[in-house]
Amino acid sequence: MLSLLSANAQKKKQIDIKRIEPAFWWTGLQQKEIQLLVYGTEISGANVEINYPGVVISKIEQVENPNYQFIYLKLDENVKPGVVTINFKEGKLKKTIPFELKSRSKTTYKGFNASDAIYLITPDRFANGNTANDSIKSLYQGVNRNKPFSRHGGDIQGIINQLDYIQNLGMTALWINPLTENNQPEFSYHGYAITDFYKVDARFGSNEDFKKLTDLCHQRNMKMIIDLVFNHCGNEHWFIKDLPEKNWIHQFDTFTQSNYRLATTADPHASQFDKEKMEKGWFDRHMPDLNQENPRLATYLIQNTIWWIEYLGLDGIRVDTHPYPEKNFMSRWTKTIMDQYPDFNIVGEVWEEHVLLTSYYQTNATNTDGYQGYLPSITDFPLCFAINTGLMQNDGWAEGMAKIYYALAQDFAYTQPNNNVIFLDNHDITRFATNMKGDIAKQKIGFALLATLRGIPQVYYGMEIGMLGSGDNHGTLRADFPGGWKEDKRNAFAQTGRTQEENELVNYLSKVFTWRKNANAIHNGKLMHFVPENGTYVYFRYTDTESVMVVTNNTTQEKTLALDRFKERVSGYQLGKEVVSEKTFNLNQSITIPANTTYIIELKK
Ligand code: CA
Repeated sequence: MLSLLSANAQKKKQIDIKRIEPAFWWTGLQQKEIQLLVYGTEISGANVEINYPGVVISKIEQVENPNYQFIYLKLDENVKPGVVTINFKEGKLKKTIPFELKSRSKTTYKGFNASDAIYLITPDRFANGNTANDSIKSLYQGVNRNKPFSRHGGDIQGIINQLDYIQNLGMTALWINPLTENNQPEFSYHGYAITDFYKVDARFGSNEDFKKLTDLCHQRNMKMIIDLVFNHCGNEHWFIKDLPEKNWIHQFDTFTQSNYRLATTADPHASQFDKEKMEKGWFDRHMPDLNQENPRLATYLIQNTIWWIEYLGLDGIRVDTHPYPEKNFMSRWTKTIMDQYPDFNIVGEVWEEHVLLTSYYQTNATNTDGYQGYLPSITDFPLCFAINTGLMQNDGWAEGMAKIYYALAQDFAYTQPNNNVIFLDNHDITRFATNMKGDIAKQKIGFALLATLRGIPQVYYGMEIGMLGSGDNHGTLRADFPGGWKEDKRNAFAQTGRTQEENELVNYLSKVFTWRKNANAIHNGKLMHFVPENGTYVYFRYTDTESVMVVTNNTTQEKTLALDRFKERVSGYQLGKEVVSEKTFNLNQSITIPANTTYIIELKK
């Protein structure tokens, strides 16, 4: 092998280095050793030297594929920013690569929290701000808006153009489905089949454009949450096409798909067979399953996260398919990030109907198997399903509003339920308006609950205009926002381009969420709820000095509620003012609430 390599080296005209990842780094981080993945034709035979004060090569690793070399740089505590020159030598051949150590532009990071409201965007489908990037020669798929699974041309500039619209809805943070390159021949629009972990897809823009969008958000006091994927990548990823090591991914004799049973990760009775299928099976044919037990890949993924946090100055992370990668790796990844950024926030996608199978991952959860996930926030699917189902049911012991009541009664299992991300729908599940059968009154109830329950609300783009879409058909679920393309027949970003019903929804949502921006009792208050009665449900969000009473009537009849039952939260307050209608209530009297309505009532002394 070695003699063959040196023979080839003699034939080489130059040292070929295609990539070094990461391409640059920062001083002043906790990680004192950086792993550089060097990729190039038979690069493993090259000698490497550096000469920079405070930086030494601590280790070099060759792997089974000679086109890779892993170089580890050790940084002194006080190393100065600057350019480290890395010299590669092979016989008489030389190649020099500059590796910059930047100084950090931001050293304190405060994550998103319950004072925020997150707007979730599928970037290909939101707004096309730059038609010049719709089709890129070097990338497989171009634009075809007639095909639901093709690319439609939305991009970062489109989001930048709509920041006023988003902010006027009362939103304070963006979560955008992955913007990283998905150079796949099919289904590249969704973003979860990444082909370059360090590069924004040119059809969305550039890394600099992502940075510009993040900076513009920060100038508006809005936050940026990046969507990261550790479980899989696209089969057109450059390192999948020339694997550094066979065990970089999980490989099988025949195609083996995940069983998608997240429960196996926590289930004390799960078989090894089911656990392995869940964790190691592929998410899809075109998404190879990454093996995070390979130490080089594990480090690669951890560094990639730190790189994006530092490069963009992020405020948080949404982790895709959180229970699917090897769970001890996820625990290590999360702890590493939270140790570096203690005030940061990370929400893991745990798409699970059951509270206990969700709370398992949250930091400090008491798990009998001893698992510690370190995850500050989880996606609250159990609450989402409870709201979607409950609002369409008549009242019963466990039906109707009792669905929501029981979902919240299980909050004892969460170590920090006010840090759960709550939502009515997202890019994977049937849209809320579809589940509400287009009923405007029901949708407004949902918006009010989303704005006032504990947790961090997330709104999927288009929910505010009642966009429809089924989880069985992702192409239409992620339909184009009307007006995002200049050839569109109407512009729903503007009041004049919306129907009367759409305006009713937008006005309601923006009024409630704009009020929410300064509603301390919602951000930090406790939750107390009362057993649902006759299709009505009452809860309070309160601190020592503030109280908000939320009354929902989920029936088709007007209801009158005597306030005696709520004395422990109402006493001491005289008046109430409803946030949307601005109607006032005398708290010595009963409250009458119309059919299919939620009142958000701020109590006044
Ligand atoms: Ca475009």
